[in-house]
Amino acid sequence: MKKRIALLGVTGSIGDSALSVVAHFPERFEIVSMSAGSNLEKLLPAVAAHRPKVVSVKTREDAARLRQEFPGLSVGFGPQGLVDVATIPEADVVLGGIVGSIGLAPAYEAVKLGKTLALANKETLVVAGEPLMAAAHASGAAVLPVDSEHCALHQALRAGTPQEVKRLVLTASGGPFRTRDFGTFPAITVDDALQHPTWRMGPKITIDSATMMNKGLEIIEARWLFDVPGAKIDVVLHPQSIVHSMVEYVDGSVLAQMSPNDMRFPILYALTYPDRVPTPLPGLDLTALGKLEFFPLDETRYPAVPLAYAALETAGSAPAVLNAANEVAVEAFLDRRIPYPAIVELVARVLGRHSVVRVVSVADALEADAWARREAAALVPLLETSPRAATARALPA
Ligand code: MG
Repeated sequence: MKKRIALLGVTGSIGDSALSVVAHFPERFEIVSMSAGSNLEKLLPAVAAHRPKVVSVKTREDAARLRQEFPGLSVGFGPQGLVDVATIPEADVVLGGIVGSIGLAPAYEAVKLGKTLALANKETLVVAGEPLMAAAHASGAAVLPVDSEHCALHQALRAGTPQEVKRLVLTASGGPFRTRDFGTFPAITVDDALQHPTWRMGPKITIDSATMMNKGLEIIEARWLFDVPGAKIDVVLHPQSIVHSMVEYVDGSVLAQMSPNDMRFPILYALTYPDRVPTPLPGLDLTALGKLEFFPLDETRYPAVPLAYAALETAGSAPAVLNAANEVAVEAFLDRRIPYPAIVELVARVLGRHSVVRVVSVADALEADAWARREAAALVPLLETSPRAATARALPA
């Protein structure tokens, strides 16, 4: 029987890869619902090709346009539209490929219904890891990682018991600024930061990879996915992005997972787990690569990583605040309002002003998320690059 997929984020980079995987295995997979933001140019052909039962877009206007194009199609919009796509009774698995904490509610509602969640949206676990995993345990839903590092850990963890695990080692490419002169970081432009050396991804995650906030979020993601404390999660730089992560066992064995850096591999793994299926995708040629390198992480160059460890240690609402402040900061940087080093500085400042509360429900998480967005937005003008802002910044806080 075909696996029926609800695809959140069909027009994004995960959506592209997911459509490619589905196209390679028409006998295995079927897309029964899909969501997009505002990119109707890309959504329309996907709807025409897959004929899903339910579709959701960002605005009411776009929903009306879509209903005109496809009479009889059920079209929703906004946050409720996303939930409708994720909770459609026909779907067995929800592939969460949208960016940001907006992906939380649909993922949570799907998990409550016992649907398998194939999760590329790491923000969901960072913001509300505890309630999401509790809901999964209660309903019996599987939460399977699509993030390449966590897909690697998921595979390597199949080799031993939880008690036998010594530590998880996340690999990180180091982004485009691994070797750049640290003194020139204030001059980094948006275009510089969007040049990722090994992965093709959307703008938000590409900026997160440059600052390595992406790795910080992934540390928190790993904590919830695998129930391993932050003290047992390490990061190592690996510029080739071929070893996607490793598990070190108590007997000294280290199991690493390798594959080409192509998101179709982790998507295929999540969609076919616990089976492995033959793939037509090109395999890994290690002799062509020649070498795999590993370097320690420089926390001065990547202050987002220690900041994320601290947020995880603090726990409660701190990770949600870290994530929300980062989303606002990245957007301000992409809008060319704040300089590159101000991204992580802004996140640190918002965290510094936060009074941590417990997060037992999704509502608690979303409250912390909203608070952090307001605080971050209020701080953006203080970190702006204009001469006026520079003067304001020189004044004592
Ligand atoms: Mg990743």
